[in-house]
Amino acid sequence: MLITDITMIEFEEGLKHTRTIILPFGSIEEHGPHLPLGTDTMQMYEIARMVAKKYPVFVGPPVFYGLCRSTREHPGTISISGQTLRGLVLDMLFSYYHQGLRNFLLFSGHAGGTHLSFILDAAEEFLEKTKDTRLAVASILDLLNMSAADMLETPKDSHAGEFETSLMLYFFPDLVKGTAPEEYPSFPKPFLVRNKRKFWPGGVWGNPAKASAYKGKLFAEKLSDFIIELIEKIENIEEDKT
Ligand SMILES: [Zn+2]
Repeated sequence: MLITDITMIEFEEGLKHTRTIILPFGSIEEHGPHLPLGTDTMQMYEIARMVAKKYPVFVGPPVFYGLCRSTREHPGTISISGQTLRGLVLDMLFSYYHQGLRNFLLFSGHAGGTHLSFILDAAEEFLEKTKDTRLAVASILDLLNMSAADMLETPKDSHAGEFETSLMLYFFPDLVKGTAPEEYPSFPKPFLVRNKRKFWPGGVWGNPAKASAYKGKLFAEKLSDFIIELIEKIENIEEDKT
């Protein structure tokens, strides 16, 4: 049940069958010279939609904006602050709660560490302030690592490489503009740099040459099946009495 597509009556009826919702997050961020700026959000939402076709669950509209740090100087990256993201997540959670939802799976197609930390921080506060909720927070790379990491040929592939290019070739082949060279950032850690693009010119982290639509289909199926397993778990967790 896609929140954007159902009516008030269908929403009310849906609550009789499930109290669980997937909330997809993403970013507007450079994804190399070959993938669209909306990649993170679009791929996460498509996987959530696949889940909703196979399992009775609500899926919220995706949040297209996220917090991006290392790609901030690349053309097209539009970032919001951590405080804004945190506030948005809290507002969304409380409003869905008010409407009867109790199990929340917050999945982000953007796997930036700072971005995820603000989502997690909001989720923790919500968990503390409500007594009858269950939450899960994961990035798409966490989901990949937990379910299908062995399918990846490129170690450390994470951004606009084998994994994301495969998903986009499967979901949105018309939006993939060829490919890009294998690349990894060379930030001089622990120093912070102003000109981030200098240390990551192509904006790719991994190897897009290893991508294919077929792999994308397999990744998407594995991840959506894994999310269903997580939903079954979250819906059957024993109440913690401690
Ligand atoms: Zn991405």
